[in-house]
Amino acid sequence: MSQPKRHSQVLHKRTYWGEDTASVLVDWLNHRVRPKGDPVEALVRLQGHHSLVLDGDPRQKSVELVNRTTRSWGLSLVPVAGLTPDGWTAEWRHRPTSKAHPLQLLAFVKALHLASDGLLQRVRQCGRTECGRYYYERFPQQEFCSTKCRELQKRSTPEWKKSRAQYMQRHRHGLQERERRGVSAVTRKKKGAKKS
Ligand SMILES: [Zn+2]
Repeated sequence: MSQPKRHSQVLHKRTYWGEDTASVLVDWLNHRVRPKGDPVEALVRLQGHHSLVLDGDPRQKSVELVNRTTRSWGLSLVPVAGLTPDGWTAEWRHRPTSKAHPLQLLAFVKALHLASDGLLQRVRQCGRTECGRYYYERFPQQEFCSTKCRELQKRSTPEWKKSRAQYMQRHRHGLQERERRGVSAVTRKKKGAKKS
């Protein structure tokens, strides 16, 4: 009888609710080459934290933006049939459009799924201005895309710089003190050696 695989033997990458759906969207938003006036980014920026800087009702603006984008891209669903091991099946897929990059279209569709689940506002932009990458917020008040950015931001504050300078001053003083004591110990030893 073969032993069943223990749970710990299987490596699991921890994911959060909505994170899988958001990954395509986040990848698109961080894509180096994106068309100007990208409606996908505009839609993300109309939600939650981003919308605070806007005038008017962000919900109304979101609805208008989605309907306008859908019309201008000529979006429609088509059934695509294919074989399965037991028979055949048909899935409804978005017809490709020349008006949008395939990744952009996919990101737009994922954004709509997230919006339906009330999760689109969790797609945020990193709070460190020099970074600005988009990420999926895993826990409330997560302001940065990574631990690295959180640390870098913390180190740029005047409070941190001041406490760091004080620490370095104490450190240097400690070194000088140890050096002084070390030198005097050597001198004492030498003097002792001469006596004998
Ligand atoms: Zn960042």
